[in-house]
Amino acid sequence: MKKCNNCGTQVQDNDLYCPNCGSPDFSALPTMNGQPVDVNGQPIPMAPEYQPEPDNGIVDNGNVGMGIVGAALLSLAGVVLYFIIYQIGYVAGICGFVMFTLATLGYNKFAKPQTKNPMLGIIIAAVVTIVMLFVAEYISMAYALYDGFRELGYTQVGFFDVLKNMPDFLSDSEVMSGLVEDLIFAYVFAVANIAISIFSARKKAK
Ligand SMILES: [Zn+2]
Repeated sequence: MKKCNNCGTQVQDNDLYCPNCGSPDFSALPTMNGQPVDVNGQPIPMAPEYQPEPDNGIVDNGNVGMGIVGAALLSLAGVVLYFIIYQIGYVAGICGFVMFTLATLGYNKFAKPQTKNPMLGIIIAAVVTIVMLFVAEYISMAYALYDGFRELGYTQVGFFDVLKNMPDFLSDSEVMSGLVEDLIFAYVFAVANIAISIFSARKKAK
């Protein structure tokens, strides 16, 4: 520890200039019980810049609008991942977990909240995750149907034709139950991650 010879405040060892008065003139501080003291053995206050901010309980959500954009943008990577895993033939629902992590990361990157993972950010990321998982499942299933048509020799059927007619395909109960099953699986994984985030945010708030 060292102190400013001009104004007497305590400064960090790697400071070149006093944050209080700008002086570059320092001297080492004697310490007592690890606390810097002056010649009379009295504790020396830290420069105001280094005093810990009082915890006033104010939660900063950052720029919420940008946070929504960020959550949507990064979760698109989750949609791509879901699509790939679905087409390979594995259970894409596990992406539900990843999707929420991506949405949260997107919120924090774009909204830049001062509070780590604020509750509003978690809620927004959760809503974006639920919507994007539906989009991912819908597109993945449409592509799988399109692929099926091609294998059956219907080469004139385009992917966007299938996508456009998905509501019709979904009126078939077997197709619909396939979609619902996949979504339940994905949402279970998403909810697990959301619950972990809420739990740790609550714990931190205490
Ligand atoms: Zn000073």
